[in-house]
Formats: sequence, structure tokens, C-alpha cells
Amino acid sequence: MIFTIAIDGPAAAGKGTISKAVAAHFGFAHLDTGLLYRAVGAKTLQGTPAIAAARALQASDLETDNLRTPDVAQAASKVAVIPEVRSALVDFQRAFARRLGGAVLDGRDIGTVICPEAEVKLFVTASAEVRAKRRFLELIGKGHDTTQAEVLADVKARDDRDMNRAEAPLKPADDAVLLDTSTLSIDEALQAALGAIAEKLPDA
Ligand code: C5P
Repeated sequence: MIFTIAIDGPAAAGKGTISKAVAAHFGFAHLDTGLLYRAVGAKTLQGTPAIAAARALQASDLETDNLRTPDVAQAASKVAVIPEVRSALVDFQRAFARRLGGAVLDGRDIGTVICPEAEVKLFVTASAEVRAKRRFLELIGKGHDTTQAEVLADVKARDDRDMNRAEAPLKPADDAVLLDTSTLSIDEALQAALGAIAEKLPDA
């Protein structure tokens, strides 16, 4: 079966958690496409030019532990505005999306650009304050030294860059189901996502 679930939305809206749980629920493969941009961003912090880094990206580049830091997140959103970086990453994402056995991809442009033919599109969002609080707790839990105000400023800077870039800006596809997780628990958000997906499954 070829069946793609596209899950887009801004930073820390709950996409990652929902995507992993949805993939596990249906036995589908999962690709966090943000990791591709983070891996390219991390290379630029080490001095490699962004386009060369994107063209040379290897699966092993995604396996390093240091891609989840705030510095790498900002670097990722800076390289993500470069059209040649985005185009270098398209084929891999499209092949993943249409693999046999079903796929869940989460990112910013999966439903709009990478896989407009996805069988299900979700746009997961939450207020900037709620997202910053979640990301703050996550970072503190991992031992990062930061404040909620700093994380909120980072989240807003990334939102602004992601929504206002010329190439593949962050926005819901016309046929996406909107899911605002601001006041939902993880389980409530997951149940809402599974409900929206169930309506589109072939034998539902
Ligand atoms: O999802 P995550 O926060 O890991 O993404 C890091 C950055 O990568 C985003 O802020 C965005 O600029 C970029 N990105 C993108 N398109 C995607 C996934 C991520 O532009 N499909």
C-alpha cells in the first residue's frame, strides 16, 4: 500500500510526538524532515557552505546527537530559505513519502510542496507561548541553560523566517485538517489526529 500522511506545522506544536505515535499506530515508516535541515544547518556551523552540505547529505549525518540544540534549530531555518538547499532534499523526501507500506512525514511543506498528493494532511499548531513553554521544558529537561523568554524569542524568529520565505513557506495546504493543540494533552491531540486519519483510510 502507498499511503502518505503529511504532518506540517510550526516549531514545538506537537508534530514530532504526534507523527511518531501515528506511525507506530499504523506500522508506517516515519521521517522527521526537520532533521534534514538541521543536519545541513549543523554543517554550516562547522564551516561547510549550505548548498554543498545539502547536496552531500548522508543518512549517517542524521544520526548525530547534537541536532536538537537551539543553535542548530536557528541554523536550520536559515539554510531552509535557500532554494538550492530545499531542492537538493526533495527527491529523498518524495521517495520516502511514496514507499510501500505507508509513510508519515512531518515538516513545514510536506502537504504543500513535497507531497501534495498525500492521502492525509494535518496542520498541527498551537500558540507561540504554549509552544515556547513546551520547548523550554524539553530543553531544561535535557540540561540546557535557557529561559522561557529566550525560547519564545527563538520560536518567534523561526516562525517568522519559516512563514515569510519565498520558497515553500510554512502554511496549511488548502485540504489540510487543522489541529490546534494549545489546550490539548498529548493523548487528546493524538486521538484527534487518529480520528482525522481514520476518515481517509481506504477501508474506513
Ligand atoms: O521541525 P524542526 O524544528 O526540526 O525544523 C527545523 C527547521 O527546518 C525549521 O525551522 C524550518 O526552517 C526547517 N524545515 C523546513 N521544511 C521542513 C522541515 C523543516 O523548512 N519540511
